[in-house]
Amino acid sequence: MENKMKLTFPSHSSNQAFARNVISCFALSLNPSVAEISDIKTAVSEAVTNAVVHGYPNSVGEIVLEALISGNSLHITVSDNGIGIDNVEEALEPFYTTKPEDERSGMGFSIIKSFMDEMRVESIKGQGTKVYMSKNLKTDS
Ligand code: ATP
Ligand code: MG
Repeated sequence: MENKMKLTFPSHSSNQAFARNVISCFALSLNPSVAEISDIKTAVSEAVTNAVVHGYPNSVGEIVLEALISGNSLHITVSDNGIGIDNVEEALEPFYTTKPEDERSGMGFSIIKSFMDEMRVESIKGQGTKVYMSKNLKTDS
């Protein structure tokens, strides 16, 4: 079954939990395992946290969460119109962080990459960042 959703919310840190819960409800029609749901929630949480803390460091801006179910696959995009990333390749490196003083470990993108089947990051300095990720669910139904 095909299904899709698009949700726009402000970058308040309390909306990280909201986004995690929205994606887990949306994914339910795919009959995910507990482990799969946990992976998806964690990945979305990392991307949304990045938009909150890095995309909009000194302001509140819009975050867009989009999701599409197609066959057994879940496709997710988290976008912001924030400050953007200077060098995406460098940002994707494990342990690379621009906020070491804030207890950031630079593992967010690495976590998304390992928990999902695909991840792509597009960013334009001064315009924003878009994180695409997908996961193929192992359905037994
Ligand atoms: P952690 O996720 O472990 O708390 P982190 O957020 O610094 O630390 P990543 O999530 O891997 O690590 O992100 C790496 C770097 O990419 C960030 O430090 C930041 O410089 C940049 N970045 C990530 N997402 C965004 C975004 N939405 N807007 C602007 N910069 C971003
Ligand atoms: Mg992060």
